[in-house]
Amino acid sequence: MMDTILNLGLNNRTLQGIIDKTKNPRFAWDSYRRFINMFGNVVLGISHEHFEHEMEKLKKSRGVTLDTQLTSRDLALLTQSYKSVVKKQTGKNFPDDPREQLKLAVDAVFHSWNNNRAIAYRRIHNITGLLGTAVNVQAMVFGNMGETSGTGVLFTRNPGNGKRELFGEFLLNAQGEDVVAGIRTPSKIESLEKQMPKVYKELFAITKLLEKHNKDMQDIEFTVEEGRLFILQTRNGKRTGHAAIKIAVDLVKEKLITKKEAILKVDPNLLNQLLHPSIDPKAQLKAVAKGLPASPGASSGRIVFTAEKAVEWTDNGERVILVRKETSPEDIQGMYASVGILTAMGGMTSHAAVVARGMGKCCVAGCSDISVDAKKETLTIGSTVLKKGDTITLNGTTGEVFIGTLPMVDPEFSPEFRTFMKWVDEVRAMKVRTNADTPKDAAKARSFGAEGIGLCRTEHMFFEKSRIPKIREMILAKNDDEKRRALAKLLPLQENDFFEIFKVMSGYPVTIRLLDPPLHEFLPQNEEQMKALSKQMNVPLSELKKTAEYLHEINPMLGHRGCRLAVTTPALYEMQVHAIIRAAIRAHGVKIKVIPEIEVPLVTTARELRVIRKSIEKVLDEYKGKIKFPVKIGTMIELPRACVTADEIAHEADFFSFGTNDLTQCTFGYSRDDAGKFLPAYMDQGILERDPTESIDKNGVGELMKMCVAKGRSTKPLLEIGICGEHGGEPDSVKFCHEIGLNYVSCSPYRVPIARLAAAQAALKN
Ligand code: PEP
Ligand code: MG
Repeated sequence: MMDTILNLGLNNRTLQGIIDKTKNPRFAWDSYRRFINMFGNVVLGISHEHFEHEMEKLKKSRGVTLDTQLTSRDLALLTQSYKSVVKKQTGKNFPDDPREQLKLAVDAVFHSWNNNRAIAYRRIHNITGLLGTAVNVQAMVFGNMGETSGTGVLFTRNPGNGKRELFGEFLLNAQGEDVVAGIRTPSKIESLEKQMPKVYKELFAITKLLEKHNKDMQDIEFTVEEGRLFILQTRNGKRTGHAAIKIAVDLVKEKLITKKEAILKVDPNLLNQLLHPSIDPKAQLKAVAKGLPASPGASSGRIVFTAEKAVEWTDNGERVILVRKETSPEDIQGMYASVGILTAMGGMTSHAAVVARGMGKCCVAGCSDISVDAKKETLTIGSTVLKKGDTITLNGTTGEVFIGTLPMVDPEFSPEFRTFMKWVDEVRAMKVRTNADTPKDAAKARSFGAEGIGLCRTEHMFFEKSRIPKIREMILAKNDDEKRRALAKLLPLQENDFFEIFKVMSGYPVTIRLLDPPLHEFLPQNEEQMKALSKQMNVPLSELKKTAEYLHEINPMLGHRGCRLAVTTPALYEMQVHAIIRAAIRAHGVKIKVIPEIEVPLVTTARELRVIRKSIEKVLDEYKGKIKFPVKIGTMIELPRACVTADEIAHEADFFSFGTNDLTQCTFGYSRDDAGKFLPAYMDQGILERDPTESIDKNGVGELMKMCVAKGRSTKPLLEIGICGEHGGEPDSVKFCHEIGLNYVSCSPYRVPIARLAAAQAALKN
């Protein structure tokens, strides 16, 4: 994402020296024109287009298509026109003094630390707290010395699927930028074996050596200068989630690393990609174009032609596919926003392909069947012309492009994935549960390895179309009897919900949270809906409005919600407890192993919980003799006061579960619904390093959690404590939870494997 300048030091005098030394004037002029172009762009800020224009003009006048077809004289002329471009654009001559060139180049490369794409890259990958960078100045070797020279990029294993094979590309008579920029579509690395067998053999041996030394798949850049091989750099290669798992497991099998090292090597967030759906093999559609399978996975989306539009449309809730002739590092934000990337040019190691794999986005690159007109915003495939907003589907695993949307199926887990997750589960100390409100979600989470439910939000069951009238009846009831009658109608429905969930989670704990949101959320919001409801329920509109007005709150998140509802309307929680316990008894009767945990939300004081606990126990007493399984009564910890008085609250609770969504909201005083308006500015200005709603703020919220754990366990040393806020599936937060001694984390089904791996890594690091 930062800049490079090649061929520095050239001027008319040094050029002559190079010609004398190499007897290769074409090479010398080729290097000179490249230098002016790169220096002009990076240091002097001249748009690349101006140079490109001169190049195209010259190629046209000579009737050639490739820069390698230009002669030494052509390149000398091109150098002249490039110098004129510089003069015209900056008003100054191109600097001749190598020292001045070097000084300016070093400054420019330092400054590129803060170019937009580097900033975007750091933001996307959560790279914070760095002080800056260094600049390397080094001697060059040249891949553009003729047909016995060349340059290439190579991965020691396939970065898309992890297969143990050389994966790369090279270009004869070229410099490195030509490969990664996707300007020429390079040849596969295998063809080097025929063209330069000796070099290929040496390169192959070096890849083995570097893998062994660095204990990981390498991304290597190399140059061949007149038949002699040079390695420019090597680093651990970026890879997709599939490749990460396969490589980690294979490296253990090859005895290059231990299981522990394998577990620590895989970024938990990469597992997300393994859970992406793929195209249903039964789908009948025929592909309309085929390119390189640059990054696996499949996505459907509406096409856009610029990175800016990709961001804009995504912000408006669209799924977009970014279509470009070739992508450049400038497109990074647009690539990040898109669900897939399609390019007409470029190879498997082009910028688009490498960045897409790093982000786990599906990508089809170098698709020569398509032509892209970014100005007219059209994508042409044969006789079909697609416009901005049309829908296509990409299969990054095969390189196929389809028009329209294709049906998708859930992913199949590879044997390597199963092996890897088995190792993960062997070392982790924390359990991983899921947040699920339906049997379907619960089953999905089980298939991802969830060991119970850490949060079942019961309100979601009330919002269903057939049920909402019943809860409205309860809200509009004039007295306690009426309320109870309305609630009685909901009871069998809730009982069934819980029964189905117990069935899926047999043998695992299920934490069911009693109603949490303020009641006004169940009433219609506008006049029209009110009128309809008044008719439907046969309640005068004025009465309806009066109730709505009464329930209206200035700040509902801090208002009449959570356990406060039970203090004013005990019948509500009582009905839910009846439903839970009846479902559990019924399930137990059919040999389902039930472990219900009844959870009270938004508790602030021990007395509050004591009152509610008593009413829950009163209901349980009605089923005495029938409850042949353990039932726990516990609380969410989601308010600062609850943390500070956790020793008192623990007397009333069999378990704690951190609701870090509300805890973060109330610790910072940032409304969870409004923080989106100002948090980005806080991050841009470095006031906050991470979004605290995403990753636990260790110094503030985290300290409260620590205090809560210590105080809670000072009352009950074996108190079970978990977390069910969104942070429960975020790797850094999972690590923190391990460090403060939580028993489990709970997260949405799709984050369960991520949390399992993060928990294992935390255990190993401790
Ligand atoms: C929480 O506050 O962290 C929590 C899990 O509850 P909810 O998001 O439903 O308020
Ligand atoms: Mg909450």
